Amino acid sequence: MKGKAHWQILVGLLLAVLTAVVFRELSGRLPEDSEGAKFIAGAVSACKFVGVIFMRALQMLIVPLIVTSVVAGIASLHGMEGFGRLGGKTVGFYAMTSFAAIVVGLLLVNLVKPGLEDGKPSQVIRMAIDDQAANATEADKAKIAAAEGREASDVWGIFKRMFPPNIFKAATDNGQMLGLIVFSIMFALAMTRLPLKEISTLRDVFQSLNDVMIVMTRWVMMVAPIGIYALIVPIVFETGLELFQKLGLYFVTVLAALAVHFFITLPLILSLMGKVNPLAHFKAMRTALLTAFSTSSSSATLPVTMRCVQDNAGVSKKTASFTLPLGATVNMDGTALYECVAVIFVSQVVGFEMGLGAQFMVVLAALLTSIGVAGIPSASLVAILLIMKNSGIPHATEAAFLLLAIDRPLDMCRTAVNVFGDSCAAVVIGKSEGEEGILEEKAEG
Ligand code: ASP
Repeated sequence: MKGKAHWQILVGLLLAVLTAVVFRELSGRLPEDSEGAKFIAGAVSACKFVGVIFMRALQMLIVPLIVTSVVAGIASLHGMEGFGRLGGKTVGFYAMTSFAAIVVGLLLVNLVKPGLEDGKPSQVIRMAIDDQAANATEADKAKIAAAEGREASDVWGIFKRMFPPNIFKAATDNGQMLGLIVFSIMFALAMTRLPLKEISTLRDVFQSLNDVMIVMTRWVMMVAPIGIYALIVPIVFETGLELFQKLGLYFVTVLAALAVHFFITLPLILSLMGKVNPLAHFKAMRTALLTAFSTSSSSATLPVTMRCVQDNAGVSKKTASFTLPLGATVNMDGTALYECVAVIFVSQVVGFEMGLGAQFMVVLAALLTSIGVAGIPSASLVAILLIMKNSGIPHATEAAFLLLAIDRPLDMCRTAVNVFGDSCAAVVIGKSEGEEGILEEKAEG
């Protein structure tokens, strides 16, 4: 991940926006059955196809990468003692940063009140909700129906998912990597309990497998600029701008809260707790942040995050391979913040009073559910619907259609925040473990 990868991705991203805007402009003017319109439709579908292949290539790396890096990383620890400390710090860091993110979201949504207009529930947004629900596409209806099928007990299901009865089945369940991580950690810990000569071959095997996965990650990332171009063109082309205008204030609220966490809270933590230069860390993480932004998936970004944190920020393999796979699965600062803002925003639009107690419950629920949300696009919608229903907010299902319709750009931003949060944990924890060389040399990304 050295060199100019992030510049190439950035160029891919900008060119994609440019292409999509030109396509939108042209297709608005051309008659539907003209050659030009057909060409644009064909080009957009071709992009979709290439984008899907790129996403799948990234996702293909996740399972072997998690298993080999967690096992190789933890098996290098000497005994359980070091592990307990690392585990405690990681869980503590993740809980603290998610909570800080939610509090910022809560404050801003109460301050800006994006769901109100002149102090009253916004009629414009209320109509947009009804409109969106009435004219939802079949695909959106299926997504919401699936989300509605989830029970509140699903939140606790996370503890069950930690121990999957069939580890191979867990590995095939896209987006639910927690069981695989827990198994890999236990496997590696068991290795450390055996005499070195008995496990040294096994450890070498996992180490070599992990090295192979790193080379494969490099290969996939070589085509990232093209993959990301192809992912972004259809998104920008198909996203209608009308809804965004009506929901401008909501966008501003979410983005401002994410920005506070990204540009103030996490950098403060980096410099106060990690004693590192936050700018150097931003630089080190550029490629991973752009990939997270473009794919809206922290799981798919994991291979890139691991490379940036180790190669550019200089965190040890041991710390990175414990904190990052776990973080990509359970630590989502941006998502937790977004859940809280979205739920309270809808309550404002539908005129549902939420007192301090009710808002506190939303904070708790956002904290808990963000652990269970999968690292894939739009995954937090399930949690939002669940919280809205449990809080007794009326018209929750209809509102979910509107949230889904405008989700992508917000998902892109919160996923980047999610990934950055994980990487900060790796840096701060690595530093606290006395690792040398973290963000000391000039970072490249
Ligand atoms: N897309 C987010 C992620 O992968 C999850 C979400 O908030 O929907 O981190």
